[in-house]
Amino acid sequence: MDQGDEQTGGPPTPRGRPRADGTPVPHPARVVVTGGAGFVGSWLCTRLLELGSAVVCVDNFVTSSRDGLGHLRSAPGFELVEQDVSDGLVVDGAVDWVLHLACPASPPHYLRLPVETMRVGSVGTMHALDLAERKQARFVLASTSEVYGDPLEHPQQESYWGNVNPIGPRSVYDEAKRFSEAVTTAYRGSRGVDTGIVRIFNTYGPGMLPDDGRAIPTFLGQALAGEPLTVAGDGSQTRSICYVTDTVEGILAMAAHDHPGPVNLGNTHEVSMLELAETIRELTGSSSEISFVPLPGDDPKVRRPDTTLARELLGWEPLVGADEGLARTLEWFRQQAGQGVAAGPEPRRAPRRR
Ligand code: NAD
Repeated sequence: MDQGDEQTGGPPTPRGRPRADGTPVPHPARVVVTGGAGFVGSWLCTRLLELGSAVVCVDNFVTSSRDGLGHLRSAPGFELVEQDVSDGLVVDGAVDWVLHLACPASPPHYLRLPVETMRVGSVGTMHALDLAERKQARFVLASTSEVYGDPLEHPQQESYWGNVNPIGPRSVYDEAKRFSEAVTTAYRGSRGVDTGIVRIFNTYGPGMLPDDGRAIPTFLGQALAGEPLTVAGDGSQTRSICYVTDTVEGILAMAAHDHPGPVNLGNTHEVSMLELAETIRELTGSSSEISFVPLPGDDPKVRRPDTTLARELLGWEPLVGADEGLARTLEWFRQQAGQGVAAGPEPRRAPRRR
């Protein structure tokens, strides 16, 4: 990787290691974001534009909406390519980074789209890797904590191989991402593509669709509608929740590095689903009851990242606590409910990093 500019003081190269003295990482001129219209993707595109990069968002809107792109559509430097990446991925011109997020991510979505999920995790990922190879671009795969399955080690370190049922109800997502990691590693080893893998733990924030199906938007929607909050099982299963701007900064830090990963990105603040439902009920001032529903098959019992590697390698750690993140998300859901629409997040500056 060319880092000569950092030594000579010349114009920044598109990418380079985070500087040890804490000065900002050079930003890339042009970035392809697959899945850029989705929840995390739209925040990522927004942040890249803020940093001065041009962004090519590639999406087929299978789990997002054109309206959700909101402000991005008319933003200078933003280009939308409507394309199923499983069918191919062609982008003209120079590209510095390919950030591959395209994949249904919430359980109702990937259960509705099982074959599409496996296709985008396999051939879709290979198309994104082929693009990175042709453009000699840095490639980052948005993998997931789900590769750990129902973990037998807690917290989860990157060295843990996971405990996944290959024919269970969640396997289409878990195994698609495990294949994505394997093929990413193969392109790095056999074709010299500059690849990185981040394993993202549960991320939430404004911009999640009310019908997303993941716990936080579901509880918020139920609490605001005065409906019972549906907690699966006895609610003792845990998740670690990370605010979206933190996840986005972690993806960008990994893109600016040349490490192959995998690197866990998540907040170590772990809550049980029952605690989360109670917190959201309190936050919204709702009098909704909590109602217990059957636990889905293979639901992980615990989930908490060990983020030592992200801290030491990338200088990354989450900055937004659950109280603040949930309050911001609630505010956004209230606005959406008031307007009767679901739109993407407005551009907003991410919290300053150290
Ligand atoms: P999302 O469903 O909101 O966004 C995914 C986007 O990818 C959508 O816009 C969808 O239309 C697009 N897409 C799906 N298949 C496609 C295809 N074949 N071609 C083109 N576009 C396609 O999900 P998200 O929460 O924003 O997740 C983004 C990425 O981060 C996913 O890869 C997901 O696995 C990963 N991730 C997210 C979380 C989280 O908590 N949000 C956790 C772990 C990993």
